[in-house]
Amino acid sequence: MMARPGFPGARRHLGWWATALLCWLGGCMGAPAGVGVTALTGATVIDVVSGRPITDTVVLIRDGMIVSISSSAELAVPSGATTVAHAGSWIVPGFIDAHAHLQPWGLAASLRYGVTTVRDLHDGLPLADTLRALVGRGPTPRLFLAGAMVDAPPTTYPDAIALAEPDSASAVVQRLAATGVQWVKGYTHLTPPLLGALVTAARAQGRPVAAHLGLTNAVEAAMRGVTSIEHLSGVPEASDDSLALQAGHRRGFFDGWTAFELAWAQMAPAALGGIARDLAATGVVLVPTLGLHETFAHLDDSLVYRSPDLAAVPDSARRNWNVPGMIKRAGWTPGIYPRFREARPIQDAFVRTFVVAGGRVATGTDASNQLLVPGAGVHLEMELLVHAGLSPLEALRAATVNGAHLLRADHLGRLRPGAAADLVVLGGDPLVEIRNTRLIVKVMSRGEWVNR
Ligand SMILES: [Zn+2]
Repeated sequence: MMARPGFPGARRHLGWWATALLCWLGGCMGAPAGVGVTALTGATVIDVVSGRPITDTVVLIRDGMIVSISSSAELAVPSGATTVAHAGSWIVPGFIDAHAHLQPWGLAASLRYGVTTVRDLHDGLPLADTLRALVGRGPTPRLFLAGAMVDAPPTTYPDAIALAEPDSASAVVQRLAATGVQWVKGYTHLTPPLLGALVTAARAQGRPVAAHLGLTNAVEAAMRGVTSIEHLSGVPEASDDSLALQAGHRRGFFDGWTAFELAWAQMAPAALGGIARDLAATGVVLVPTLGLHETFAHLDDSLVYRSPDLAAVPDSARRNWNVPGMIKRAGWTPGIYPRFREARPIQDAFVRTFVVAGGRVATGTDASNQLLVPGAGVHLEMELLVHAGLSPLEALRAATVNGAHLLRADHLGRLRPGAAADLVVLGGDPLVEIRNTRLIVKVMSRGEWVNR
């Protein structure tokens, strides 16, 4: 609920309402109504759902949640509140990284960039435990974890959980659920029957499935009920079931990725549009990770290695990346990158068509894989979505309310009474220029300011 300027008696009505709510939250035993309340005053709040900016606001926050958002003409700051003046600033919801693989150092790095929620898709189970243990010991983003990925044997990565036959899906999900993860991540070797069985078993145990596809195409995966499709995987496969593409996926991650990236340039525009519309109609959420495609397509460009965002990455992590070693393992030679770049405008057109058809896109970074930086990657992704033809508001939605929709967490991703007080104060209007999301003045997570 938002205050409506101009509503007769709004000031008196909202003043009573907010005071009553504060009394209810605080017990109202004679203490001033504002004790324990943080009041952010003067900023423009962006309602990412309507796209409407609300100027000169008073945002009241208590116990980690937003109590009210009003125009300052309608609501005086209650006595006893801690007032923080933010005139000349914009307030947006905390950002959501819907696809990451964080190391512990990535938690603080994400928060510094205003990323207050992360969906972590595949880390070995011990690392998932480590990440979970860190939540609450200091400022961290909220975490939604998938733990170890599920793949068909031979699994692409040794720390994946193997699913060899559909009848085993329930036991595999049980094993994962016992570790406390909220999501299941399916991987490239899963065939349609295996992926379908995994989705059914996961759904029965209250877990949605995120899929990086290979041997199942995107339309088939969406029809079988996956909740999100990662990296635009399975899209070329929906129009090209050639053995070469399938064989690439069977051989391993890099062979599959290479064949997949090269296949985009071969897609007929009509097929591309049809797949985008079919996917949008299923309600599946796409997490395109355009930053990953863009980065791999520019590994021959020194700018990729000199991005200022890389300053957030510890030296040890950069050494572990070993980018030359990765390129060698992938078998990529300089001639491959211009061919990868041919895919990019086609991928952009696909995302644009999907959104125009009503599909939801969420930002994901794939950090902290090689050259992909936790937190910063969400801003890169928003920028690339705008470059792909989305409006700044649509890009902002991808990083906020769409991620919350994906996570089935309606207290996140938008600013309204009753929502979590996860927010970012910006020094520029992101609806005018999406890169203004990088002008971070302050970040609040769970109602507390994050040190910067
Ligand atoms: Zn990933």
